[in-house]
Amino acid sequence: MLILNKLHRAAGDLLALIFPPTCPVCNATLSEGEQVICNCCRVAMPMTGYIGRIDNAMERRLWGLVPFVQASALYFYIEGSPYRRIIHAFKYGSKWRLARDMGEWLGGEMARSHAFESVDVIVPVPLHPLRRMWRGYNQSEYLAEGVARVLKRPINHHALRRTRYTTSQTRHSKNERWDNVHGHFATRRGASFAGKHVLLVDDVFTTGATICACAEAILRVAPDCQISVVTLAVSQREVADLF
Ligand SMILES: [Zn+2]
Repeated sequence: MLILNKLHRAAGDLLALIFPPTCPVCNATLSEGEQVICNCCRVAMPMTGYIGRIDNAMERRLWGLVPFVQASALYFYIEGSPYRRIIHAFKYGSKWRLARDMGEWLGGEMARSHAFESVDVIVPVPLHPLRRMWRGYNQSEYLAEGVARVLKRPINHHALRRTRYTTSQTRHSKNERWDNVHGHFATRRGASFAGKHVLLVDDVFTTGATICACAEAILRVAPDCQISVVTLAVSQREVADLF
């Protein structure tokens, strides 16, 4: 096992030598000590400051829809911003390791805030099996894995499923997004959420339609459970009037 680990690390070092890691935002080669994102981009990152902040704009966006305990996101997804490349890289560019690294960053901020300590289980927002097969993975699973590693909570990849194949949410207007996902999620037989605090994890929060549809599916089978949500980014446009 030790030899395998050493070989794995050596292969990783060799790959890093041939293909040095680059910053997904500005594409500069990362210097020694820089992790995931270069220091310049890290300092200028449009962080939300929502994690651990009660009644933040994302929570206000969800008021009256589904009773969430907490809702937070790490940074703002802004039209035309180079920071959108982080999401695009793991969603469309096969950079699944980046999703896990960003999940660890997100999990670190959550741990520091102590706001998510009552979470029992982490559930990534599922893709439809066809879309998952086409992409090869579900980016939200890797984000959730990163969060779970830091928070040291179990992750359940299979508790929730997407029952209908729908077109990408990005192509729809605000109202269409709700219709596009409403009632399209269900819990798997045997998934037990009763009395638990479930943390839903997704990549981007826009209207909240997908997250609410997932929460409704869970609350249908376990009305006494509590649900929180965390996403890597939140569309600034969607919460701009709620600061
Ligand atoms: Zn950079």
